Amino acid sequence: YGDSNQKIDYVFKVVLIGDSAVGKSQILARFARNEFSLDSKATIGVEFQTRTLVIEHKSVKAQIWDTAGQERYRAVTSAYYRGAVGAMLVYDITKPQTFEHIPRWLEELRGHADKNIVIILIGNKCDLENQRAVPTEDAKEFAEKEGLFFLETSALEATNVETAFLTVLTEIFNIVN
Ligand code: GDP
Ligand code: MG
Repeated sequence: YGDSNQKIDYVFKVVLIGDSAVGKSQILARFARNEFSLDSKATIGVEFQTRTLVIEHKSVKAQIWDTAGQERYRAVTSAYYRGAVGAMLVYDITKPQTFEHIPRWLEELRGHADKNIVIILIGNKCDLENQRAVPTEDAKEFAEKEGLFFLETSALEATNVETAFLTVLTEIFNIVN
């Protein structure tokens, strides 16, 4: 997890978007610091966190941006999307509304971001299977139709969080190489 004394070959900006309380900040905490908190306060202050990893013998610094409680429709500014080469579009598998809002987020993303941006759809909180309200198949079908990667994650149990980031970062890496 340490970033010190390392030659950086690439810096990739990746943005997290999706409704409030779907788990964006906890997904980031899990990826950047291997931490999780059940009573995470609305994100304050910090704009992004970084983690450096190695992809095909190159060091890649992932700079992951988290919305600072700007999840209201159209409140995320274009500065947030500027320079982003990857995006994680997050919903909560127990909250159907958060999935129903995904097309809006996608539209907003496509309106602001580079057209070659790599996007992954993420159904978070898959540890709450007994409260599931969004079938995996529905999300998978939507992702295929829109040309997005798709994974279900749990920031709590650390399921697929690493894989989700690696999927996006490796795809970006392959595009620039
Ligand atoms: P954000 O508003 O999208 O940044 O959401 P947060 O990361 O602040 O998370 C909102 C709430 O959901 C917090 O109480 C988290 O602890 C909880 N949460 C986040 N990820 C998960 C998860 O994977 N599983 C469960 N059970 N709870 C989660
Ligand atoms: Mg947050």
